[in-house]
Amino acid sequence: MSRLYKTEGVVIKRLYMGEADALLTFCTPESGKLRAVARGVRRPRSRLAGHLEPLTRCRLMLAEGRSLDVVSGCETEDSFPALRSDLWLLSCGLYAADLADRLGAEGAENRRLYRLLVNALDALDSGVDPAVVLRHFEFHSLACSGYLPELWECARCHRQLEATTNYFSPAAAGLLCPDCRGREGLDRPASVDVVKVLRYLARHEGPDVARLKLGASLAREIEDLMQGYVTYVLDREVASAKWLRELRGAYRTGLANGGRPGQP
Ligand SMILES: [Zn+2]
Repeated sequence: MSRLYKTEGVVIKRLYMGEADALLTFCTPESGKLRAVARGVRRPRSRLAGHLEPLTRCRLMLAEGRSLDVVSGCETEDSFPALRSDLWLLSCGLYAADLADRLGAEGAENRRLYRLLVNALDALDSGVDPAVVLRHFEFHSLACSGYLPELWECARCHRQLEATTNYFSPAAAGLLCPDCRGREGLDRPASVDVVKVLRYLARHEGPDVARLKLGASLAREIEDLMQGYVTYVLDREVASAKWLRELRGAYRTGLANGGRPGQP
């Protein structure tokens, strides 16, 4: 008999295997990223079906296998129904899941990353501004994976930053003063307001973050800056981030909105 164990987790990736099985990746508190096979999950009468959709938070019973563990039981804890019924929110949730997949390590406990992902899905599901949710998730998921950006002193000369336009350098992992601004081309100006928002995101959690209001142009500046850092750290762009940009374009022209142009 193989050993059984329990954990909770969020489904962050699902690949179908053969006719009826699926290979699932979970983000879990104790085991970090965990991959397991769900046998027969595509059969209509499978008792696992419906519990293992991407972004579902569930309680799992797993059996240790020789190479991969096997899901032997599963109960849904939260399926985030509001998020799931809106294409934009669902896409934002899938981006957060992708990031957790890329930053998480298999078998390495990461309670913080798990908690951040669950909180992000919960916030998207309860109507918090997705731009705020995603920037907070990007900042802290990078921070808890060893990529905490320096926001208070110049990452190169270590002088206190002044209230002027500074520069964010992915290579230096933080802000640079105007004297040290990099010549690498990836560095981008960070206005006083951008720095203020980044510091706010760094210091706040939960309801305090939910209260943050970002105007469209400030939101875009911070998005570009954070996604530049994510791309630098992961050494390539996250595919679902590209999809979010394409989808936003489709909303603007009305293609994703039944002909009514709008802003997601
Ligand atoms: Zn400096």
